[in-house]
Amino acid sequence: MSRETILTGLRTNAEYHLGNYIGAILPMVHMAKSKSDEYQINLFAPDLHSFTTPIDHSKFYRQTIDNIKMFIACGMPVDHDNVHIYRQSRISAHSELTWILSNFTGFGEMSRMVEFKEKSERLKEDRVSVGLFSYPILMAADILLYGAKWVPVGEDQRQHLEFTRDIAMRMNNQFGDMFVLPETIQKQQEFVSRDSAPRIRSLRDPSKKMSKSVDDPAGTIQLSDTAEVATKKIMSATTDSVGVVNYDWDNQPGITNLLTIIALLSGKSQQEVNDQWTGCERYGDLKKAAAEVVSITLAGVQEKSTAISDDQLEEFLVASESAVQETALETLCKVQKAIGLR
Ligand code: ATP
Ligand code: MG
Repeated sequence: MSRETILTGLRTNAEYHLGNYIGAILPMVHMAKSKSDEYQINLFAPDLHSFTTPIDHSKFYRQTIDNIKMFIACGMPVDHDNVHIYRQSRISAHSELTWILSNFTGFGEMSRMVEFKEKSERLKEDRVSVGLFSYPILMAADILLYGAKWVPVGEDQRQHLEFTRDIAMRMNNQFGDMFVLPETIQKQQEFVSRDSAPRIRSLRDPSKKMSKSVDDPAGTIQLSDTAEVATKKIMSATTDSVGVVNYDWDNQPGITNLLTIIALLSGKSQQEVNDQWTGCERYGDLKKAAAEVVSITLAGVQEKSTAISDDQLEEFLVASESAVQETALETLCKVQKAIGLR
């Protein structure tokens, strides 16, 4: 394997919204397009990670398929030899390596994971599963199986990436080099940081980010929203009483959110959009402009995703999965030999 691997995943157990599109999908698409000649790009649906917290299992399979279609509709270059898109659950080596790694992971080490502490706290009434506790080990397997050096992660996943390096080093020390270490957090951030992606705010409460899990769904635009629904949400977006458009996150977050959305979706610079709107006293006009560019974007991705048939997608996924499987099995085999299973 001479080419370095970039590995990234996006959960598929909920519908994608405009925040995911701008903050996660577009940057990934951009990365895949700009780096696929030089790097191997592994983009996976972390479906085994999806039920660490309760989900609707009856919708899950469909949701995964539809979300992968959305991803492709958003511009993921699927016709490139170096770009693989696969479902984690189809490569059984992920589960097998996870079990092995679990036995070289300290209970105390896992207990220090901040993400677990936070999420289990929030789950109070539901059962907190062992899966939620140990999923960083599955994440380590996701990365180590493919020898991925580059794993662009957000702030919440950094501790898990550190853990991946730790366990890889520990096992390399004990059994000889079998794992490629992912680069340090600092290098990852220099390479491509998800934190630099803009944060879109809720249309209803612009002090919060747009999110799938909020109390007021009218603040979130789903990628599947019709133009009508999206327009309605934007036209009733919370603004302010200043009465004049300014790009000002502190004092006019609702308005600034709309200016940001317009710039990012229209491909214009923020400066250009701000110059056009600053001083305008008719918030309704700004909302209309935002609704228009959002509607055009949604229609575009919806049309493209509808054009992909289930069969076409399946064929593509199976081909990708069989390609990555080879690398995964090679690594697993190496590990099995080293620890005495073969
Ligand atoms: P939850 O509320 O359950 O945390 P979410 O809607 O925030 O869900 P995630 O699954 O946490 O979505 O996020 C997936 C990716 O989308 C992450 O990379 C995250 O940075 C990005 N993202 C989510 N919401 C936004 C947003 N409002 N603006 C920009 N990026 C976002
Ligand atoms: Mg989130």
